[in-house]
Amino acid sequence: MSSTNLNYPEIREAVAKLCSNFPGEYWRALDDTDTYPSEFVQALTDAGFLSVLIPEEYGGAGLPIGAGCAILEEIQRSGCNGGACHAQMYTMGTLLRHGTEEQKKKYLPGIAEGSLRLQAFGVTEPTSGTDTTRIRTMAVRDGDDYVINGQKVFISRTEHSDLMVLLTRTTPRDECKKPSDGMSVFLVDMREVLGNGLTINPIKTMLNHATTELFFDNMRVPAANMLGAEGKGFKCILDGMNAERILIASECIGDARFFVERASAYACEREVFGRPIGQNQGVQFPIARNYIETEAAALMVNNAAQLFDAGKPCGSEANMCKLVASEASWHAADTCLQTHGGFGYAQEYDIERKFRETRLYQTAPISTNLILSHVGIHELGMPKSF
Ligand SMILES: Cc1cc2nc3c(=O)[nH]c(=O)nc-3n(C[C@H](O)[C@H](O)[C@H](O)COP(=O)(O)OP(=O)(O)OC[C@H]3O[C@@H](n4cnc5c(N)ncnc54)[C@H](O)[C@@H]3O)c2cc1C
Repeated sequence: MSSTNLNYPEIREAVAKLCSNFPGEYWRALDDTDTYPSEFVQALTDAGFLSVLIPEEYGGAGLPIGAGCAILEEIQRSGCNGGACHAQMYTMGTLLRHGTEEQKKKYLPGIAEGSLRLQAFGVTEPTSGTDTTRIRTMAVRDGDDYVINGQKVFISRTEHSDLMVLLTRTTPRDECKKPSDGMSVFLVDMREVLGNGLTINPIKTMLNHATTELFFDNMRVPAANMLGAEGKGFKCILDGMNAERILIASECIGDARFFVERASAYACEREVFGRPIGQNQGVQFPIARNYIETEAAALMVNNAAQLFDAGKPCGSEANMCKLVASEASWHAADTCLQTHGGFGYAQEYDIERKFRETRLYQTAPISTNLILSHVGIHELGMPKSF
């Protein structure tokens, strides 16, 4: 099957080879018991795939975001799930771009070699939802520390991470000139505060994603762990969010390719009424449409990645590529399930698992409506609805 945007062929080949050691049975067994894919994440770490975006001076490969996109796309295309560890790639960007030299030297080499896990990114709260400026988690300075109180929800991988990039308020919203002022970012070493100010409770969801809710009860974090300037945290995380959206869009492209490849293969091999079901255009055309949609979305992901690497503004491009890629994967998932008839629902085909997994990207890390509103307002100049 020909495809556009298959850059970094050697990396793709190596990722596909690694993923072949983690077949559907591996993921199904974990899914049944909501278990984290530790062996898979370790294998990716050992192979250096999770540190490709870290500059060489800190022990990484110093590759552009396109390399990260290729890795995550191939993981998903192979039927594996990069959701277990994708944050290790983009969360360190906040530290890289906004950390002091001392902070970078302290943490980045450990993250690059895999001895330090930075898999958690804590933004969402139960009462603020998508409206990030209304977060209530508050950090108050006390001597050399900040004391943090509040709550987060749906924070993934905290039980499998040493560090977390955490967004808090340091000034209440109503005391700030702009709603996005007065927020600050901390690099929290969860090993130091777990059970001592930090409580982590797992949340069982429709997919195996190791997500949790967090409670902060007078959790002390050294002031030296603040990333960027006090009150300017929103800007710090926005930079990271563009990378997150581009990388997750690549995962959606990989998912879409998985579904299109599985659907077309099954449509050729399954015979009903004495001929392959794929000979019926009612079966064939939706798969062809999904393929076209995937190829178009891949071009948009590539475009956003190039702008990001060139250091150019890419907020809209990152958002738009995430929307089209997540829709391509969701549409392809639906077609693939339908193409498989009853067998699509059988766990051993992995279609229903991937179907559940790719559905997440309609909602997280940003929901489709919020992307549409971003484009309506910032690209098309229409009035804001909120
Ligand atoms: C499995 C999983 C893992 C996650 N991992 C993380 C993580 O690691 N870190 C983290 O910080 N967060 C994480 N999240 C949270 C995720 O980013 C949020 O769920 C998402 O941003 C939506 O926020 P919400 O759930 O509060 O929905 P809400 O903000 O309550 O929105 C609910 C619905 O209303 C729509 N809506 C809201 N306002 C408007 C409006 N003005 N116009 C039109 N539509 C609107 C939304 O589009 C959405 O469909 C995760 C979520 C899940 C499910």
